[in-house]
Order: sequence, then structure tokens, then C-alpha cells
Amino acid sequence: MKRKKKMNNWTIWPLSVGIISQVEKSNLTFGNNQGERLDVCSVMYLLKDGPELILVDTRMSDPDWVSKYHHPSSREKSQEPIAALAKLEVSPDEIGIVILTHLYWDHCFNNSLFTKARIIVQKAEIQYALFPLPIHALYYEAFSIGMTPSWLRDIGRFEIVDGDYEIMPGVSIIKLPSHTPGFQGVNVKTKKGNYFIGSDFCPLFENWLAVDTKPIPSGIHVNLLDYFNSFKRVSKFADFILPGHDLKVLEKEFYPNTP
Ligand SMILES: [Zn+2]
Repeated sequence: MKRKKKMNNWTIWPLSVGIISQVEKSNLTFGNNQGERLDVCSVMYLLKDGPELILVDTRMSDPDWVSKYHHPSSREKSQEPIAALAKLEVSPDEIGIVILTHLYWDHCFNNSLFTKARIIVQKAEIQYALFPLPIHALYYEAFSIGMTPSWLRDIGRFEIVDGDYEIMPGVSIIKLPSHTPGFQGVNVKTKKGNYFIGSDFCPLFENWLAVDTKPIPSGIHVNLLDYFNSFKRVSKFADFILPGHDLKVLEKEFYPNTP
């Protein structure tokens, strides 16, 4: 009994590593909000209180790089990834597992900081990241546009998977073709139920609000049929959603946040 309780006792800590500014909102809410601009966060999720520390996404590079190639960006000193973890008294070497939801520029740039971690990625994501459609090439900082994807630096520590797996008791990856072909979300069992780390499958809370009637896909996607099938899958088990870019997720220090 004791062991079972532990398995469902994870806590999830959203740690912002900076702000991405002037994002076209319809890129996050397909078919809605055209012409609106908003600021979003780039948030790592630290999973604590299980047998090992897990980090979901290592997120974006420094603001100079981001501003040069992608969007205006800012980061306070306390938002540097190592500083953000230090606030929770966690050092990078203590992270045993990194799960990358996908290989876009703003989700996997800091892998090299976590030298002891196994890095879990879907096979279909690696294949597509190497040879993306031209419309997605900059998101992957791909060879086809003269860039070198940052994730290649640490590919020796990649654990390449294909499908759904329980990574550790109470933490599962779910393959969800949607925003990208090899996208994976992370389901975390907590004492309050299943928290699903949606990352850019649902970049804002509002993507998910009407999941039973009209969920809103990201404006950046490959196949809408796959995307809606993935919505259906997740809606069957997720009790709560944690998005990839919504500033509101930072209003609580950790999840579940009530006793
Ligand atoms: Zn993103």
C-alpha cells in the first residue's frame, strides 16, 4: 500500500525561463484571434516527490538568440534554467530524466545543462526534425535553412521511443501526433488526479476549455485529423491540463496546489 501511495504523489513545478513577446495569437489558437499579439512564457516542468527528478522540456535559449532568430524575448537572472532550479534547491546534475515533448527551438535548447539525464524523445519527432516541411524549418532550426539543431549536441544521451510508455511509476509519456508528428505529452499521477502536461499540444488553457465540443488546435500543426484524435484520447484520462506557454500557469507555485 505504501508503495502505491508514493506512485501517485508527484508534484509538478512550473519554472519559467523567460518571456517570448509579440507572438501572433492565432499561431496558438488556430482560426481564432488573428492579428492579436501576446506575451507568453517558456516553462520547464519539474516533477518532484517521486523516485527520481524529471524535467519536461529544457526550453528556450538566451534572449539574444531568441530575439535574433524568432521573437523579441527577455529573461531575468532568476529565470536562467539553473537559477530557476536552484530556487527549489535542485542542481542540474540531480535531474535523472529529461522528457522532450517535441524538438522545436523553444523546448529543447538547454539539454546540455543536464549532463546526467537520459533524454526521452519520440522517433517520429527526430525523423521530422531532420527533414521538416519548409514551413516548419525555422521552428526546428533545421539544416535546410543553414542552421544546426541544438539537440544534436546531446544525441548520445537520447533514449528514442515509439509510442506510449510509463517512464516511472505514475509518469507516462503519450504519443500524440498533433502540433508536430512525433509530439508527446506527459501524464502525471498526483493525489488530486491526472495532470496532463500538454506543452504545445495545448499552448494556452483556452485550447482545452471546450475539449468535448470544440477544442482549439495550435495554429502550427501537421495533420488536423491526427490532432483531433489526440484531443479525444487525452480527454479520456486527463483531469487537469498544464499548457506550454500560458502565463496563467505561473500563478500557482506547484500542482496540485491544494491539500
Ligand atoms: Zn513552444
